[in-house]
Amino acid sequence: MFRFAISEELLQKAREHSLEWHTQRGNKYNRELFPIDFEGEMTFEAIDLEDLKSDKRNGIYFIFDESRNMGYVGMASSMTFGQRFYNGKEDCKENCPSKCGCFGHINSTPDTCRSSRVITPNAEYRVYCLAEMDAATAQVMQSEVDWYYLLLESGIEMTNADWALGRAGYTGRPIVSCHIESATYYHFLTISEAALTLLPNHSGGAGAIGPVVSGLQNQLNGYTHRYAAHDELEFYQGHQEITELIGEFPRVLEWRDNQGKPVGEDDINRNSLLKWDAGPMNEYDINHLKRYSRGTYDKSNKSEYKWVYWDSHYVRWYWKAYTRSFRADGVKRRENMVRKNKHGANFSSDREAAIERENWIIENKLKDINTSNFDWKSPKE
Ligand SMILES: [Zn+2]
Repeated sequence: MFRFAISEELLQKAREHSLEWHTQRGNKYNRELFPIDFEGEMTFEAIDLEDLKSDKRNGIYFIFDESRNMGYVGMASSMTFGQRFYNGKEDCKENCPSKCGCFGHINSTPDTCRSSRVITPNAEYRVYCLAEMDAATAQVMQSEVDWYYLLLESGIEMTNADWALGRAGYTGRPIVSCHIESATYYHFLTISEAALTLLPNHSGGAGAIGPVVSGLQNQLNGYTHRYAAHDELEFYQGHQEITELIGEFPRVLEWRDNQGKPVGEDDINRNSLLKWDAGPMNEYDINHLKRYSRGTYDKSNKSEYKWVYWDSHYVRWYWKAYTRSFRADGVKRRENMVRKNKHGANFSSDREAAIERENWIIENKLKDINTSNFDWKSPKE
């Protein structure tokens, strides 16, 4: 059980600091929404961790290790308590790669989230619900900040980063973005924040960032993005434009071929993948991205092979072929075009796409309704 002693002095200090936090950020603060208005004691029962997995509530939660007097407060609004603590794979800690997308406080405990200082192996932390709210009320971010200062002023060592308070959907995976044309760098706490700031007129802007962050594409809409490295997190706090700061970190970057093998500067081509992990890019990296950015590349993207095309959105070659022909209204028609690129990887050239197409047509016995690039004698490579 967590016993929380409330004095007039505590309330006053917490109110002052919360007001100050909001004022500094130019946010409106509603004094009447402050969560506690009495002196005395509140008690909270720990939530059984098995029950927490399916806990459907929204509101303010508190992770507290009483033996170390150390805590972390958070708010679950767009997701439930259960999701917030167990998002991702159940066996994340054992089996996920180091940069998986899981962010559950308990099953994943990403070290980019400060809750990882409370949820350590063998730690005796408990989880409490401080205030249950409907999802809409919880959207009022103020509550998380109020509770943070209430707990802090009561003498608990709070591990939250105060710059991360009151951020909807903050899951501890900040990103670094680079505007390629101007080599300007930015730091955002979430992909959504980046989308709102960098691509305000782009519908589904987060969808234009996710594939780049996860390494499927080098760039989209003039930007490239990556997750912020662990060491960068604290250094960038409070800054959005970080062009002047990012040089403090060494460049950790590799260009790879479509098999994931590193390639040297001379072998980089438009199909090379950027694996950017920390620090700034160099001039060479930037120029390479510029050369193959959308728009500049689109003009010279015609393949010499028939039925092979350049997809400027996904920045890759693909091919098309007919799958059947039939008669309708007395006219011979060909339909059911297939459109293929290798799953998860790009063709290294338009020729590679053309060869795969030719083999696919031969295998599927569709030669009579398709056009050949190699007289149906497909080369080995
Ligand atoms: Zn995971």
